[in-house]
Amino acid sequence: MLKTERCEHVPDEQATPQTANCPRCGSSHSLRVCSTCGYVACCESQYGHDREHWKQTGHPVIRPYPLTERGWAWCYACGKYL
Ligand SMILES: [Zn+2]
Ligand SMILES: [Zn+2]
Ligand SMILES: [Zn+2]
Repeated sequence: MLKTERCEHVPDEQATPQTANCPRCGSSHSLRVCSTCGYVACCESQYGHDREHWKQTGHPVIRPYPLTERGWAWCYACGKYL
């Protein structure tokens, strides 16, 4: 299991990534994956589709994709790394 300092927004289980690249722009590097639903999106140094996903769905927690054991998570609602 991923061990992080948790906030109330982190789901109990990390969702399985849905795609291998950002479905909005096709980016395949520096991707983030939504912890709630597994939506894959590019980071804010690209088009910020991860942030857009949060605005559209209210899913605040993302992790870097591909997922790693020691990967960090970012909570948009809290505005901090977990
Ligand atoms: Zn989501
Ligand atoms: Zn994108
Ligand atoms: Zn949070």
